[in-house]
Amino acid sequence: MTSSWTAYFQERLASILAELQTYVEMETPTHNKEAVDRLGTVIAERFRSLGCRVETIPQPVYGNQLRVEYGAGDEQILILGHFDTVKEIGTLQREPWRLEDGKAYGPGVYDMKAGIIFSYFALQAIIDHGLPLQKKLVFFWNTDEEVGSPSSEALIRAEAEKSACALVIEPSYGDGLLKTSRKGGGEFLLKATGRAAHAGNDHAKGINAIEEIAHQILRIQSWTDYGAGTTFSVGTIRGGSASNVVPDYAEAAVDYRVSTRPEADRIKALLQGLTPVLPGAEVSAEIVTSKPPMERTALTERLFLHAQEQASLEGFALREIGVGGTSDGNFAAAAGTPVLDGLGPVGGGAHAPHEHIVVSEIAPRIALLLRLLTTL
Ligand SMILES: [Zn+2]
Repeated sequence: MTSSWTAYFQERLASILAELQTYVEMETPTHNKEAVDRLGTVIAERFRSLGCRVETIPQPVYGNQLRVEYGAGDEQILILGHFDTVKEIGTLQREPWRLEDGKAYGPGVYDMKAGIIFSYFALQAIIDHGLPLQKKLVFFWNTDEEVGSPSSEALIRAEAEKSACALVIEPSYGDGLLKTSRKGGGEFLLKATGRAAHAGNDHAKGINAIEEIAHQILRIQSWTDYGAGTTFSVGTIRGGSASNVVPDYAEAAVDYRVSTRPEADRIKALLQGLTPVLPGAEVSAEIVTSKPPMERTALTERLFLHAQEQASLEGFALREIGVGGTSDGNFAAAAGTPVLDGLGPVGGGAHAPHEHIVVSEIAPRIALLLRLLTTL
């Protein structure tokens, strides 16, 4: 036993970084199942060697999902993370693994291979020191988070339902803030249909779908309400074939975000109730992807206060924030399970070439994770 787990992990920093390098140098773009499965096999083997029960859940399109269980009992804690990245194979050549100015760089290092490494080393220390657990630990390592978790959403929701709480090992925010709420939302496709006609000869017979969608776009954008945390942003627009043809079809892809579940329901009702402005035109909105908001409940607050207390035992102050971006934490929260998100590395540059983690923050974060896993 040691009084400071931070010091303990600091002493083991070289092996932690070596293992992280191994993960980073195995590139895992979501759409390359073979590559993702290759790292999945390594992760499964690592956790198995600690004595975990590892279940590989086969997937036809994306990488096989990994469910890792340690300990016993009826109650469980869910630890969530993903090992797919947005970076294509070959990114490593432009953005090689490197240590520079106290930072570790490389594709996926921050989002979020470090989080899985942190979990592994925390668990290893728990086992090596025979630390008792209050609850069984279930780690779910996802392979398709970066495309919205199509093959894992149902598995995550089901696992969260059985869990007392969920810890998401995604990167922290800014200089290390935990994420205690996330907006929900997603994307919908706005479609307008009119009637084609020759723009010169038959102008009056045409119904211009682009004109119709222009009305709809202005209407939808005006629903943005920063105070309520609701935003709409038309991201792409498409329609028409030539300037002398009255277009009969136009569509726009729209990003929307909401802070609460009632607000999500209200927006869905608004979208279903869209009515055309031009006589004879038709409009519709089809939700393509949607995640429920991860709300900061009383249970979340309790969980955060506990984490704050544990962090103070390691000598650092933990702060929290609500963010607009979504994660698998949104699915876990949908089950009513309290979620602490952002327990992974401190760093920056997710999805960008300067993606990195701060090396001096590795040990304290693993120490915090160890304390949470053993005290919750
Ligand atoms: Zn991520």
